[in-house]
Amino acid sequence: MLLTLAQAATAPGDRAPDLQKIFETATYIIAGVCFILSLKWLSAPTTARRGNIVGQIGMAAAIIGALLQHEIISYWWIIAGLVGGSLIGAPLAIWMPMTAVPQRTAFSHACGALAAALVGTAHYQIAMRAGGPGIDHPTMGILCVEVLLGALTFTGSLMAFGKLQEILPQRPITFKGQNYFNFLILGAAAACGVALTINPALTWLFPVLLGLAMLFGILLIVPIGGADMPTVIALLNSYAGLSASLMGFVLDNKLLIIAGALDGASGFILSIIMCKAMNRSFTNVLFGAFGQLQAGAGQQGETRTVKSASPEEAAGILEAAQSVIIIPGYGMAVAQAQHKVRELFDQLSRRGVDVKFAIHPVAGRMPGHMNVLLAEAEIPYDRLIEMDDINGEFPTCDVAMVIGANDVVNPAARHDKNSPIYGMPIIDADKAKTVMAIKRSMKPGFAGIDNELYTRDNTLMLFGDAKAVVASVAKELADNHK
Ligand code: NAP
Repeated sequence: MLLTLAQAATAPGDRAPDLQKIFETATYIIAGVCFILSLKWLSAPTTARRGNIVGQIGMAAAIIGALLQHEIISYWWIIAGLVGGSLIGAPLAIWMPMTAVPQRTAFSHACGALAAALVGTAHYQIAMRAGGPGIDHPTMGILCVEVLLGALTFTGSLMAFGKLQEILPQRPITFKGQNYFNFLILGAAAACGVALTINPALTWLFPVLLGLAMLFGILLIVPIGGADMPTVIALLNSYAGLSASLMGFVLDNKLLIIAGALDGASGFILSIIMCKAMNRSFTNVLFGAFGQLQAGAGQQGETRTVKSASPEEAAGILEAAQSVIIIPGYGMAVAQAQHKVRELFDQLSRRGVDVKFAIHPVAGRMPGHMNVLLAEAEIPYDRLIEMDDINGEFPTCDVAMVIGANDVVNPAARHDKNSPIYGMPIIDADKAKTVMAIKRSMKPGFAGIDNELYTRDNTLMLFGDAKAVVASVAKELADNHK
C-alpha cells in the first residue's frame, strides 16, 4: 500500500539525479530477488521461517526505495497512509487468532485491491483533468483492467471476509439465471472498459465501470459457500496480484510488475492445488454453490451407536502400541491443542513408540494450517508426513489418533458417490488396527456430512475438547511412567 502511495505522490515528469536512480534500482532488484527467494523458501516447512524473514526484508527494501524518490512532492499523505495502515494492520496481526487467518487474509486482499483501484482512479483523474497530460490508448486499456480487477477484488474479498467471520450468512445464496446475470454485469463492465480505451475522454463512464466491477465482486461471492471460501480467497489473491502488476505497467514501476505477477501466479497455483486436494474443479468451486449443510446431517449422527473410551483406556492402548500415526485437523486448531499434542508425542517417543503425523493438504482452514501449528509446538519436521507418503503405512499401524479432524478421514469420500466429498483424497486412518477419534460430539465437519469412521468396529471415540483430552491422555502416560 505504501509503495503504491509513494508512486501516486510522485510528480510525473520530474528528472531525478542518477545516484538516486541507481539506489532506487538497486533496492528494487534486492526486493525482487528477496520476493522470489521468499516464495521458494515458504513452500517447505523447514525453510518457511527463512522465507518469511527474507520476504519482510524485500518489502522493507521496496518501501525504502519508493520513499527515497526525489519526485515525491509531499510525504504527508504517505505518513497518513502509514499511520492508518498500521492502526488497522497491527491489531489484526496481534489479536486475530490462527483459526481466523482465512478472513484476515481476505481483509488484507480487500485493502490491497482497494489501493490498486484507487491508484488507477487517481492516475486517470490526474491525466484527464484540465491541462493534464492525457492518456494513450494502450495505457488506458491496462488501467481499465487494473481498476476492474481491483474493484471486484475489493468487494469480493469484503464479502468473503463477512461470510467467514459469520457477519453474513455462510450458505450459498442462489437464484435462477444467476450465472447469466453475473456474466451480463461483467460483460457490461468490460464494454465500459473497451469504450474508455477507445475514447479516454468519456469520463462519465469511469464511475460506471467502477460501480459495475464492485457489483460483480459481490455477485461472484454470493453463491459460494463457506467451505469453498479459502479456495476463493486464494483466487482473489491472484486477482489482486494481477491488478497490482497492471498498476506497475501504468506507473512504469518494474517492482510492482514483478511483485504483482508473483502474487498473481502464486495465488492461482495455490487455488489449483486446493481444488485438486478437494477433488473439485475450478468451475464447480466458483459456480457449484457447494457447502450447503445437508438436512439433518448432525442429528443423524447423534443417534448412532459408538464405542467411547476414557483417557485412561486410551493411554493403556497407546502404551502397548509400537507405531502411532496422529491425524490433526481443524478441531486441534480450534482447541489450540498443539502444545499438549507435543507432550503426548514426547511421552510416547520416550517409550520407544514410533510417532508420525499425517498431514492432509486441506486439513484445517488454510493450506499449511497443521504444519504451522505443529511447528509452533516444535514437533520435528521429519515427523510430519504428507498424505500420499504416509497412507501406505496405515495397515501396519497400531493406532491412528484423529485429533479434531473429520472430513479428511471420512471413508465416504472413497465409495459414496452421493457424498459431496466423493473423490476427495483422504487419509486412510480407518485402515489402522485401532482408531481413536477426539472430538466434542458427533456433529459433522465443514462439509456438513456424517462420518462412518466413528461407528466402525475398530474406532474408539474420546469425547471432549481436544486440548483437555490430549492433556489427560498425556498425563496418564506420565503418571504410569513414574
Ligand atoms: P473438519 O472436517 O471441519 O472437522 C473438524 C472437526 O473438529 C469437527 O467435526 C468438530 O467436531 C471438531 N472440533 C471442533 N472444535 C473442536 C475442539 N475444540 N476440540 C475437539 N474437536 C473439535 O476439519 P478437517 O478434517 O480438518 O477438514 C477440513 C475441511 O475444511 C475439509 O472439508 C476441507 O475441504 C475444508 N477446506 C479446507 C481448506 C484448507 O485450506 N485447509 C480450504 C478449503 C476448504 P465437534 O464439533 O464434534 O467437536
